[in-house]
Amino acid sequence: MFREENVPIQTELDQLSQKQQQITGAMTVEFEGEEKTLPQMGKYQESADRGVREKAYKVVADRRMQDAEAISEIYDQMVSRRDALGKNAGLANYVEYAFKGMLRFDYTPEHCFAFHAACEKEVMPFCAALDKKRVEQLGIDKLMPWDVSVDPKNRPPLRPFTDGADLVAKTRQVFNRLDPELGEMFASMGDGKNTSGIATGELLDLDTRRGKAPGGYQYMQDKSRKPFIFMNAAGLHRDVETMVHEAGHAFHSMLCDDEPLLHYRHSPIEFAEVASMSMELLTMPYWDAYYPDPSELARARRKQMEGSISLLPWIATIDAFQHWVYTHPKHTHQDRQARWLELEHRFGSAGARVSWDGLEKWRTHLWQRQGHLFGVPFYYIEYGIAQIGALQLWLRSVEEGEAVALEAYKAAMSLGGSRPLPELFAAAGLTFDFGPETVGRLVERVQAELEKIPD
Ligand SMILES: [Zn+2]
Repeated sequence: MFREENVPIQTELDQLSQKQQQITGAMTVEFEGEEKTLPQMGKYQESADRGVREKAYKVVADRRMQDAEAISEIYDQMVSRRDALGKNAGLANYVEYAFKGMLRFDYTPEHCFAFHAACEKEVMPFCAALDKKRVEQLGIDKLMPWDVSVDPKNRPPLRPFTDGADLVAKTRQVFNRLDPELGEMFASMGDGKNTSGIATGELLDLDTRRGKAPGGYQYMQDKSRKPFIFMNAAGLHRDVETMVHEAGHAFHSMLCDDEPLLHYRHSPIEFAEVASMSMELLTMPYWDAYYPDPSELARARRKQMEGSISLLPWIATIDAFQHWVYTHPKHTHQDRQARWLELEHRFGSAGARVSWDGLEKWRTHLWQRQGHLFGVPFYYIEYGIAQIGALQLWLRSVEEGEAVALEAYKAAMSLGGSRPLPELFAAAGLTFDFGPETVGRLVERVQAELEKIPD
């Protein structure tokens, strides 16, 4: 795929990507008498006070609008440069170029279209039912854009642990009960008290602190063949999700650490995320370690189960949008906005779930919030594919028992990246399919499971 003439185009694309990040990163707003970044504004969407949520939403949306045109123009340039990359390489369009470049040898755009159809047909009704319930619980007449993140019963945030050491102590109980072997592997990573990064040879760095880089991740240290988990734990439920998620990645690293070929100790994202996302689901029966109060436990499990399905339509929207963008590289801003609205309707994602009465101007630019579109085009559906794999494994644990599911998990993860995707899925007893039939079956089973969880 290498073409001499693509080298300067890649450089231009990197520069455009930096420009987009600079513009987005520089966005701040005045709120409650202080200057705040947009990530800092996120927490107001969980406020029980609807007036605060509305005010916070509007101030952020207005700030984004100020740069919306500049960002649209950056995107135009990116699309035309990327189209050139593909054509210079002798391919019909950038879609083909991206699929080859991302080593997607085991699935095609048609498989992605089947995923889109699955979201439209199987997931939309699920999400619509959740929204209807949310409106009733919140006691409002219609869902507005600032009503989607708050707890539907207006309860205060869950507080599952105090600090990193407490998080590790509780997570050890969870894994020990789920599977002693995984429990031992998790315990081998340390006690969570380390606050000095990776320099001291520690394998966990969990607590958030001033000056620490944002985010959470796991990586395999190739020389020592030991995993390392980094995160910014602040005592919230989403930190529990991150902890068990990253632990899943660490298990994957440890289970294939005897693989002689370095390249095979890392697997494609579509499967690597099965290792982590399935731990979010398989650990659920033991979350009483974090939530001794049964009503809090039910709330956390419900959120996890609902979220495992309701994230899919947004993934489909972003993926379908990109397929259209790069097969219609000469589109106008008007075409693009119209297409965006059409996709939102089709998948019932973000915009289509709420009322935009009087707020239409913000809606056509919602796509700009997904940073992947700019810096890492087409990289996103991986999470949908992996989630469907993780849900299949969860279903095996429900239908065939935890022991069977965990044995399959370990067998598949021990292969690392030494097999093509369909074989890795098959090794865990999962079908490498993300079309309507597979997704429909999973939605139905999640629905049945949710009915058992007290409200
Ligand atoms: Zn992950």
